[in-house]
Amino acid sequence: MTGLELAILDCANCGARFMACPQCVCTVRIDPQTGFPPDVRVIDGKAVHNPKPDPEAVQRSEKRPVCDDCVRKRNAIRQKGGKAAAHMEGPWETWEERHDRTHREGGRA
Ligand SMILES: [Zn+2]
Ligand SMILES: [Zn+2]
Repeated sequence: MTGLELAILDCANCGARFMACPQCVCTVRIDPQTGFPPDVRVIDGKAVHNPKPDPEAVQRSEKRPVCDDCVRKRNAIRQKGGKAAAHMEGPWETWEERHDRTHREGGRA
């Protein structure tokens, strides 16, 4: 055992409660005033990418954890491409993937 503790977190996307390493968990920035990332605008109930986020919204946004289920779903949408994935950049890592890598390097003699 590495002695690392997992935290109970609430997923910013689906609201599920999940356990993850707080240092490795995937995070998104959420504007507490809207509940959405600062680069997302909601038009007619649909989330749309906002290429010019309001600097104030970026400032007040907070890093919020995202569960592995949502990371995988998001990556699957991205792989299929199309409109829904148009603003998605790069694959996201699940916290377990990142955790494995970060804590193993130099961790074991
Ligand atoms: Zn989730
Ligand atoms: Zn970790």
